[in-house]
Amino acid sequence: MDRGALHALHATETQRFVEAHPACARLAEAGRAHMPYGVPMSWMAKWPGPFAVHVDQAAGAHFTCADGIEHVDLCLGDTGAMSGHAPAPTVAAITAQAARGITSMLPTADAALVAAELTARFGTGASRVEAWQFTLTATDANRHVLRYARHVTGRRRVVVMDFCYHGSVDETFATLDAQGHVVPRRGTIGAPVPADLTTLVVPFNDVDALRTALAGGDVAAVLLEPALTNIGIVLPDDGYLDAVRALTREHGAWMVVDETHTLCAGPGGCTAAWGLDPDVVVVGKTIGGGVPSAAFGLTADLAAAVQRSVELEDIDVGGVGGTLAGNALSMAATRATLTQVLTPAAFAHMEELAVRWTEGVQGVLSATGLPWHVTRLGARAEYAFSPNAPHDGAQAAASDDFPLQQYLHLQALNRGVLLTPFHNMALMSPATSAADVDRHSAAFSEAADAVRALRP
Ligand code: PMP
Repeated sequence: MDRGALHALHATETQRFVEAHPACARLAEAGRAHMPYGVPMSWMAKWPGPFAVHVDQAAGAHFTCADGIEHVDLCLGDTGAMSGHAPAPTVAAITAQAARGITSMLPTADAALVAAELTARFGTGASRVEAWQFTLTATDANRHVLRYARHVTGRRRVVVMDFCYHGSVDETFATLDAQGHVVPRRGTIGAPVPADLTTLVVPFNDVDALRTALAGGDVAAVLLEPALTNIGIVLPDDGYLDAVRALTREHGAWMVVDETHTLCAGPGGCTAAWGLDPDVVVVGKTIGGGVPSAAFGLTADLAAAVQRSVELEDIDVGGVGGTLAGNALSMAATRATLTQVLTPAAFAHMEELAVRWTEGVQGVLSATGLPWHVTRLGARAEYAFSPNAPHDGAQAAASDDFPLQQYLHLQALNRGVLLTPFHNMALMSPATSAADVDRHSAAFSEAADAVRALRP
């Protein structure tokens, strides 16, 4: 590809972006006065364009920026708003609860109802995940599960998949180098200890590698997404997740399924959709409709083992928990979101639209002959810069092209379509419409023609 010409295309889009966003530019400038990168959290520096779009308001599948431009939101807060922005039942529940107290470090009636709802959705395996605890983030849920797994099994190590992402969880910032050694993932910030002290890394879909990793007998838990979603989508081979189940059981390691993103596969995530039988399920982000809320569920046996192993006197200082976790507002928001917004009917609609999005992208790829592919998992879909779907994280990572991605995302943004900044990913919400999807297809068609012209 002619990289100079790609740079020129990007420059044209940058100019168009700057001209269209004077108000966002002023807000970004004000932000720089007291915030590194000018944003409240450093990730927001990764959006395409010289400064972040600032949101004035968001509703359903759309948001309006400070310049009054309406956008179709296919990022949806990288799943935090998979429920759609400001869904009415959630807003009503939040409003009612806020006036009745937000946090007291005491349970409200909603918590047990939410735990029962999560059991109905995710407790579908033979081992039945049915004992839930709540946190504010999926990161915390994962951290807590790993602590419990180490505590109960008395083992030190955790197995993760190469190129996984599970939040800012220390043990997960490890990848394999060319020789197959565990090394810190590129870009890891301030690792507390060498990654191989805590972590074994295996390629996704590699049963033999997992068997070898578990054979050492020092693995407390295998933490995985049932399909990788954070390095593009990597789907499991037939039988792979059954093999993970069998091997973890054989070696006494907890099988922890992180459904934070794969909830897009249906009301009970991949666990229910694919008949998985994990020991632990983690879910977060969207379950509170945007209000911080996450959860982890254990089987009854594991929950009992945890309770036996923790002294009441030390329960607040052992490294699991949080002052605001399980607060009344989060629980009210989660109850409303699960029971009234992210319903089975909503998932059916979302999946239909994701199919439409995938067909739109595929149509453009076929017409232009660009050697890319598009993959879908329920309500989530993604295109990537390789002709075939990857089999593991390293293969997926090898097709990364950050400058190309930045151009495509800025091009889409300039046409009123927001994609997730970390991937070429689109997520559907209950409020997303066919017209929203088609807006992306039209923008993508234009971009693909421009990129096609850069190739020999
Ligand atoms: N698990 C998975 C699979 C994720 O993709 C993420 C975030 N992208 C997390 C956990 C962490 O979520 P949070 O940043 O909300 O803690």
